[in-house]
Amino acid sequence: MKVYSSVHIRNVGFMSHVNAGKTSLTEALAYNTGATKRLGKVDEGNTIADYHSEEIARKVTVNTSLVACEWQNTKINILDTPGLSDFFGEVKSVLRVADSLVILLDAVAGVEVRTEIIWDLADIDNTPRFAFINKMDRENANFYNTVSSMQENLTKQIIPIQLPIGSADQFKGIVDLLNMRAYHYDGRGKPTTIAIPEEMLDEVNSYREKLIEAAVESDDELTMKYLEGEELSTGEITRGLKLGILNCSIVPILCGSALLNIGCDLLLDVLVDYAPNPLERIDDSQIASKESASLIFKTIADPYVGRISYFKVLQGVFHGDSFYRNANKSTDEKVGQLFTMQGKIQMQIPELHFGDIGAIAKLAQTSTGDTLTTKDSNVIFSGINYPIPTLTIAIEPKTKVDEDKLGNAINRILEEDPTLRLETNLETKQTLLTGLGEAHIDIIIEKLKNKFGVEVEKYPPKVPYRETIRGIAKRIEAKHKKQSGGAGQYGHVFIDISPYPDGELEFDQKVFGGAVPKQYFPAVEKGVREAMSRGIIAGYPVTNVKVTLVDGSYHSVDSNEMAFKMAGIQAFKKGFKEAQPVILEPFNNIEIEIPEEYMGDIIGDLNSKRGRILGMEPKGKYQVVKAQAPLSEMHSYTIDLKSLAHGRGSFNMEFSHYEELPINLAEKIITETKAE
Ligand code: GDP
Repeated sequence: MKVYSSVHIRNVGFMSHVNAGKTSLTEALAYNTGATKRLGKVDEGNTIADYHSEEIARKVTVNTSLVACEWQNTKINILDTPGLSDFFGEVKSVLRVADSLVILLDAVAGVEVRTEIIWDLADIDNTPRFAFINKMDRENANFYNTVSSMQENLTKQIIPIQLPIGSADQFKGIVDLLNMRAYHYDGRGKPTTIAIPEEMLDEVNSYREKLIEAAVESDDELTMKYLEGEELSTGEITRGLKLGILNCSIVPILCGSALLNIGCDLLLDVLVDYAPNPLERIDDSQIASKESASLIFKTIADPYVGRISYFKVLQGVFHGDSFYRNANKSTDEKVGQLFTMQGKIQMQIPELHFGDIGAIAKLAQTSTGDTLTTKDSNVIFSGINYPIPTLTIAIEPKTKVDEDKLGNAINRILEEDPTLRLETNLETKQTLLTGLGEAHIDIIIEKLKNKFGVEVEKYPPKVPYRETIRGIAKRIEAKHKKQSGGAGQYGHVFIDISPYPDGELEFDQKVFGGAVPKQYFPAVEKGVREAMSRGIIAGYPVTNVKVTLVDGSYHSVDSNEMAFKMAGIQAFKKGFKEAQPVILEPFNNIEIEIPEEYMGDIIGDLNSKRGRILGMEPKGKYQVVKAQAPLSEMHSYTIDLKSLAHGRGSFNMEFSHYEELPINLAEKIITETKAE
């Protein structure tokens, strides 16, 4: 593929609710532009965009694919994103680099949950967009219902620029309202120009009028002309429409069938003529700067091919086989060959111009979100605002071999996935993996196995409970004594135990007259700490206690540190049990964002989880509920919220404090520990 200049580049993100047909549409465009020789099918696992084994197996996109297509002397970089909420990090990356979006709708389902979520995000970023009503060939496909469902549920002026000829099994063609032409498609997606069907003329004229009204609104001069009743040229309508699309006051609607390759050629034409090029989407400072710099927006870690980094040129011209600087890490980076990508196919290219998107293999130090720049420039581009993962599970390697390989493999996966977290919980000794949802975590486990040959089992995370006391115990005695045969042992202590809210342990002594010699105090404290770390009633670490050594006795020959430590352990265990022991559980602060209509269900559910509501406040069209709830009930809240709010909710959660576990639950845990 040749090098394209910025005006001839279009970076287009394909987004939708899962299954609306993004991968199929990408395939159709790749086929029409000659990037692929045959029209692959998602259901047959042979598309250009879904080539990872996890994607083929599940028939669902997990990774964003970059497919560069050439059409009318223009390079269209298609970024095919996943639709499932579990892979939303990919959508966020694409929102950072796409200059426009094609949002697909299923002509039967209309606006779905993720359509709205993506639409709202595009509103926030002011990203120009096109709507493509796909699957016009499906039974019950309804273009006009889909248009009204968009106009009801989504903001902005949404205007058809095409109308379908027929629908479902009678869907045979498209009327182009911009050029007032009609096309009939044969069974293989080849168009022939036909006359606009007689029976559609009224409808076509009325939609064309709406289109012109919308187009003139974005330009004062055109509005004047229109109001004075002057005829507008096609060029003027195009200009108005382009302006409206660029400033997001107009979203044009197209239609077709990705599966039957109907209307896909017209979409390509529209993207060339109306989608903004990168120069139209930036401020002057960027144009002025000639220093070359790029942002890395995605990394793929492949055990065989190595690391592949996807980038967008955000300043100047980016050359391959050159030295750059990683501005975030202040290190030098050798950039080798550059590639333009068509799915997994890499095509070498010497340089990419401002706004273009490509890939680099085997960068040593650079990760997603980093800026690569020439030595003299110090620009750092803002990175990508990823969703915060909320679903945690524990993983354990199946065998010793798996254990040895796990660290390296998981680090490679963490490199490519900024929405995944890994930590070891020191209290529960579990390795915890946190992701965006069940499917996300399952894919990670599959990748560990298929890509890195590491097998792990997953477990629910253990709750890091703690133990403490509510009462006091006085003069608890323990004597560690062994005086028959060999070297003797003698340690004898009396301790007081009481609650200590300000910290883990306060150790004090009030020993009179040297009953316990000073040099053994640290040994007693050591014993207390050891007993605390192992737990007394249920095996969880003890916290918030004050221990005072008050009395004891010693033996001039047999006493030693070990003996006093043992006495400390025994005294603490005994005293702890007498001072009203309780179990503490971690409580989290949680903030949940949901549409108003789900408030009742959300609050009811939190109550059933022993949560307490701290407050609520409106935020745009959502409500934010602030609450506290025990961690043990919230491990799978990601899954619960998804079903309670029908995929429309989000939340974040962080540790707040410990609270006493109700007695019935505490008993259950004590019994469980004993059984173990
Ligand atoms: P994505 O999740 O948005 O990428 O959607 P896919 O491209 O994977 O398509 C999901 C399913 O819808 C697959 O079974 C496709 O064959 C099917 N599909 C996609 N486009 C069309 C279409 O235009 N018509 C019909 N009837 N089915 C389609």
